[in-house]
Amino acid sequence: MEKLVSLAKRRGFVFQSSEIYGGLGSVWDYGPLGVELKKNLIERWWRSMVHEREDIEGIDSAILMHARVWEASEHVSSFTDPLVDCKQCKNRFRADDESIKGTPGEEDAQCPVCGSKGTLTAPRMFNLMFKTFMGPVEEDASQIYLRPETAQGTYVNFLNVMQSSRQKIPFGIAQVGKAFRNEITPGNFIFLTREFEQMEMQYFVKPGDDEEWFEYWHAERMKWHKELGIDGNKLRYHPHGEGELAHYAKRAEDIQYEFPFGWQELEGVHNRTDFDLSRHQEFSGKKLQYVDTVSKDRFTPYVVETALGVGRLFLVVMADAYREEAVEGESRVVLGLHPSIAPIKAGIFPLVKKDGMPELARSIRDDLRKRFPVFYDEGGSIGRRYRRQDEAGTPFGVTVDGQTTQDQTVTVRDRDTLHQDRVSLDKLAEYLTERL
Ligand SMILES: [Zn+2]
Repeated sequence: MEKLVSLAKRRGFVFQSSEIYGGLGSVWDYGPLGVELKKNLIERWWRSMVHEREDIEGIDSAILMHARVWEASEHVSSFTDPLVDCKQCKNRFRADDESIKGTPGEEDAQCPVCGSKGTLTAPRMFNLMFKTFMGPVEEDASQIYLRPETAQGTYVNFLNVMQSSRQKIPFGIAQVGKAFRNEITPGNFIFLTREFEQMEMQYFVKPGDDEEWFEYWHAERMKWHKELGIDGNKLRYHPHGEGELAHYAKRAEDIQYEFPFGWQELEGVHNRTDFDLSRHQEFSGKKLQYVDTVSKDRFTPYVVETALGVGRLFLVVMADAYREEAVEGESRVVLGLHPSIAPIKAGIFPLVKKDGMPELARSIRDDLRKRFPVFYDEGGSIGRRYRRQDEAGTPFGVTVDGQTTQDQTVTVRDRDTLHQDRVSLDKLAEYLTERL
């Protein structure tokens, strides 16, 4: 895990937020390569969820929403964690923190940080939503929240989307966007962060059809992760037991990944029933129902949700792709990213900095970069330049050598097999495009 974090920083994938000021806890920034990888992951998800389907529409709702939304969704009353404070060292812990010895609030309880006894308060409920104020007056009336999930922005737009897109049930609404949770014990790099990006899809179905659609999405999402190149042996289902279910859920199942720190949730599939739409109906006074065009049945749809964190998926593809190996008597670090999500698709190298090779290589770069991101590098030995691109996850290396000036061909090196093909310049773009 430390190696991955260090590679992520060294190669410009992920930096800590406000690092020069000592950093902001569990908030991260994406660097030049990171932003490309993140964008590619989102695009791939959007394509499979929205563009390639008839039955799902996209939406982008605002982060700021009416405060009543969170009362209706029960986030104001239920989205809480029990916390205890140490009166001695002022640290705050979750009440169920395993490092606490004894019962918080009692004399025997010991603070896991400063070791004081009897200084831990009894557990108090703490809401995980970030509060802020809208308008010039800081009073209760103007207090709003940063959304803790994108789903509510989808629910309140259910009628707008259905009517404007003329969709019929069953249909879904997909959304990608930032959400915020004031987690008390976040960590493990970008696994659990206070500001994060979600890729969520709410699928509206007829009550009674919900279990069948749950099965469908649960299988569909696993397939998607495998198609992304993630090792199937490191993916599994984890059904939620009674105690794990969220207040709105009838059934929930996680797709877990075996992270360097153990099996943890990658994506959640939830049967949220008609809980959210019914609550918004009650709180807003607006009917959020559907009338079946054939049977004329009127009902409040059930919702099957798929919820995936962009940062978490990012961590999974990085961890899954990372490998160290020995080749040609040297050790190398490789990010074996699926070519479709790699930030840079090809490195372009002149073998040496003379005989017209740099000029030719630069003109190849100018041609290719109109199609996909490429990187020109003439610094250091060719072996070192290959290694740098291996670490960045670049699937192909294109080298201009002495032969190129004579017969207009280049070598194309495959990052994983190290196999080299001789490819004619007029076929190069096509050759690479086919393999991306
Ligand atoms: Zn303490």
